Amino acid sequence: MPTLLQAPAVKTPDQNLKLLLVDDDDEDLYFLKRLLKQSGRSHDVLEARNVDQAVEQLQHQPDIVLLDFYLGHQTAFDLLQRMQKSGCQLPVILLTGHDDAEIDQLALNKGIADYLPKRIVNTAILDRSIRYAHRDFQRLQQLEYLAHYDTLTGLCNRRLFMDRLQHAYENARRQNRTGALLYIDVDGFKQINDELGHATGDELLKVVAERMSLIVRSADTVARFGGDEFVILLENIGAPEAHRVAQKLLYSMEKPVQLRSGSVQCSLSIGLCGFSAEYGSPDEILSSADRALYQAKLIGKHTYCSFNQRLMESLSRQSLIERLAQQAVDSGDFFLHYQPRTSSQHNNVMGFEALARWPRRDDVQLTPGDFIPVLEALGLMDRFTQWVIDKALTDLPRLRHWAPGCVLSLNVSSSSFASDSVKDYLLQKLQQLQIDPASIEVEVTESLFIERPDSAVRILNELRAVGVRVALDDFGTGYSSLSYLNQLPIDTIKLDRQFLEQVPAVPRSTLLVAAIVELACNLQLNVVAEGVEHEPQKAFLQSCGCHEMQGYLTGRPMSLDQLQMFFTGPV
Ligand code: C2E
Ligand code: MG
Ligand code: MG
Repeated sequence: MPTLLQAPAVKTPDQNLKLLLVDDDDEDLYFLKRLLKQSGRSHDVLEARNVDQAVEQLQHQPDIVLLDFYLGHQTAFDLLQRMQKSGCQLPVILLTGHDDAEIDQLALNKGIADYLPKRIVNTAILDRSIRYAHRDFQRLQQLEYLAHYDTLTGLCNRRLFMDRLQHAYENARRQNRTGALLYIDVDGFKQINDELGHATGDELLKVVAERMSLIVRSADTVARFGGDEFVILLENIGAPEAHRVAQKLLYSMEKPVQLRSGSVQCSLSIGLCGFSAEYGSPDEILSSADRALYQAKLIGKHTYCSFNQRLMESLSRQSLIERLAQQAVDSGDFFLHYQPRTSSQHNNVMGFEALARWPRRDDVQLTPGDFIPVLEALGLMDRFTQWVIDKALTDLPRLRHWAPGCVLSLNVSSSSFASDSVKDYLLQKLQQLQIDPASIEVEVTESLFIERPDSAVRILNELRAVGVRVALDDFGTGYSSLSYLNQLPIDTIKLDRQFLEQVPAVPRSTLLVAAIVELACNLQLNVVAEGVEHEPQKAFLQSCGCHEMQGYLTGRPMSLDQLQMFFTGPV
């Protein structure tokens, strides 16, 4: 486990220090000790008479080294060299019997804290030199910490990480080794931060950092790039092992995180890039892992994706789709189809569901199942939903002409409940166009109540308060909980197509559908069965009292021109 480096502890100048005195002359050592005693401080003193002894004493972690220049057949510079090699950084005050300008210059170049000719040293000079050297060294350490570490988590920051990545990359090239880079993002962190406050967000990031550090080896580097972005460098590791680390990281977040404000459940998305001597540059490795992370987010979060050539090809298609999606939202080039909802008992059209379609002019053809997640990932969902509202409300008079009193259903994705903007926009449009709110039904999915339980219920209540209806879409899939039927502000449930597929052929599925319909009826909820394709399904739904049907049997999603034909026949 790599140590999480906390900011260096600061000793005040009045505190006692641990000093290492290195001198090959017993008399000089005695002289120094006397001066220290006269200073009135009770420093701990370690002694060494040559370079080897000094190296041994360094294990006791002195705060400062007082170093004689000539040490038998060696000099102070020999010790400095050994300290440098072992990565030991300490303030060193050089003491010498020879007041030599050349040594003075050399000492300065080697970063010596102070240079004191023994003939001028007295208690006051030595005490001051020690205190100043110690203060300057502590400041330097603080600055180095700030320059290389993330103060919140104690992990490396981007600068230090890039430095280590550069080394790892060069080693991989020189020694034909392989390594891996993991780019990690905490799913839903922004929401946690917004809803529970920054202090809770920070607390969570610390725990994430700790859990990650527990999983990797001490030679590996874990860094925070800012926000909820983390990266891990695994050196000298093969692909199977790197995948195992990614999996362990995912598991590491399965246990809820206990914070001061309560318990939080969160997950990670990870992009993995294995690298070898062939890779072009550290930046290329980083951007490959970043792209793999993007893919992991796209396929549903709480997962990891590994970068490879196929992924790269799919990403270039992905970036084309993203560009087209952005253009389509900017210019409002999507269009809407409307699928009729018909009454099970009388076969008349009770409403329409607006279903978005990808612009016809592009070579790329995508279903809503493909482009809706792209719009979500690009943060374009609210603008898109506003476009759907505009278009559908403009078309409503024509739909009502064909089916008087019909209800128009609009799908609204969970992300549009993060703020009030879509709700406000809908209400404002209804007022502006003087449309009865009761003619609009908003379709939401169960994920909304898992992702945003509080804001969702509040916003839906506000919509219902003015008369807008609410439908729970795709019921029967996902985490369907019967308690939703009771507790949530909904008027309608839409039984998912998958649920109906085996009806009436499979008795258990058929019984289940009948039971849900009965339950919903008893709770005074309107029930719409989706995906009705065959007469036997229709007959069964009629027999069990399902209110409405929607499916290819009673009407496919259609453009306004097609609907004209549907209602009036060819002219
Ligand atoms: P959904 O809201 O559950 O819509 C019903 C889907 O089932 C539609 O797919 C529709 O074409 C399809 N469908 C209807 N009857 C049948 C049938 O008898 N058999 C079969 N096999 N399929 C049938 P579509 O249009 O591809 O939309 C898929 C999903 O995309 C929608 O599921 C909805 O979640 C989302 N979506 C579509 N338009 C919008 C939109 O404007 N906004 C948002 N947020 N989501 C949308
Ligand atoms: Mg729907
Ligand atoms: Mg549905």
